[in-house]
Amino acid sequence: MAEIRIENLRKQFEDFVAVRDSNFTVKDGEFLALLGPSGCGKTTTLRMIAGLELPSSGAILLDGEDVTFNRASARDIAFVFQLFALYPHMSVRGNVGFPLLSQGVPRKEIRSRVEETARLLQIDHILDHSVSRLAGGDRQRVALGRAIVRRPKCFLMDEPLGTLDAEFRDTMVRELRELHNRIHATTVYVTHDQMEAMAMADKIAVMNHGIIEQFGTPQEIYNCPASMYVADFIGSPPMNFLRFTSSLHRGKRSVRIDGVEVALPAVLEDMPEAELALGIRPEHIRLSDHAPLRGSVYGSEYLGTNQIVTVETGSGMLKARIPANRNFKIGENVGIELDHDKLSLFDCRSGRAIG
Ligand code: ATP
Repeated sequence: MAEIRIENLRKQFEDFVAVRDSNFTVKDGEFLALLGPSGCGKTTTLRMIAGLELPSSGAILLDGEDVTFNRASARDIAFVFQLFALYPHMSVRGNVGFPLLSQGVPRKEIRSRVEETARLLQIDHILDHSVSRLAGGDRQRVALGRAIVRRPKCFLMDEPLGTLDAEFRDTMVRELRELHNRIHATTVYVTHDQMEAMAMADKIAVMNHGIIEQFGTPQEIYNCPASMYVADFIGSPPMNFLRFTSSLHRGKRSVRIDGVEVALPAVLEDMPEAELALGIRPEHIRLSDHAPLRGSVYGSEYLGTNQIVTVETGSGMLKARIPANRNFKIGENVGIELDHDKLSLFDCRSGRAIG
């Protein structure tokens, strides 16, 4: 297996910069998700790692070896596309074994490696079926089998579950993670779906307009977002922001929000008048009758065991994820309790976290 290191990687299409000086390392056996909205540069990054796109500048190292200018076929990397092309006239066995056949591997070895791969993916019972009659999930497993059978140094996957319906997607997310736990292949996985990234990845790189906004474990990214963009992109519903303007003094430890003193999660450095925001996740808000911070109920969404209640405050809308054991009327005046040790603080102008 292999470590992938990306150094100052940049891709420019004429005067448009699609990937802007990225730096990250995927350690041997790690699963990295490149996460971000459409057009942020995920696929371009992946294609450069695969050798399908030449970087404008920067370097790609596989196990310490500079492969930036190596051909794709010389990189020992398997690429799993969203729209995988299986050979429709062939059986599952023929499709999975094809990469070995074209490498000239002896037939006996092909047979045993195809069967071993099929057992791993639990498609051994359909090895002699034609792929043209398979359902989406099995087709995806065959495509994965074709990638795994070569035992490449690493896997690159570009939205491989994109065409599956929701039910199959959930199953495949679990299966991909289980597969990763078993074979520990270094993997880079492109997705715009935060739930997929959170469920599968060891590390996530959140991208925005060609820039990696944050690189970290799913827990780091969820609990300590480096920017308002990351805080807003991750979580459903996303993090709430309470905006306020304040002239701040060194060492200031609290602010007044809607007339109520709220302790800050970080001690402020000297700043001129600045627009700041306190960030809080919906599950870190409670609604209680007696809290001094007040708001009026704007709407609620019933989710079974819990509900999302939207509350309008003087500093913006807040969404609270709370137990569904109480009904709220639209317009009802409620008290808002914030879990103080879960607050984040952001500078609205740069969007970056403070502290
Ligand atoms: P998506 O999920 O929509 O593919 P993405 O995050 O993978 O999004 P990329 O496909 O990497 O984004 O594209 C990043 C930007 O670079 C987009 O604005 C895209 O239009 C542009 N781009 C990609 N390939 C080319 C190209 N060959 N020529 C010009 N612009 C390109």
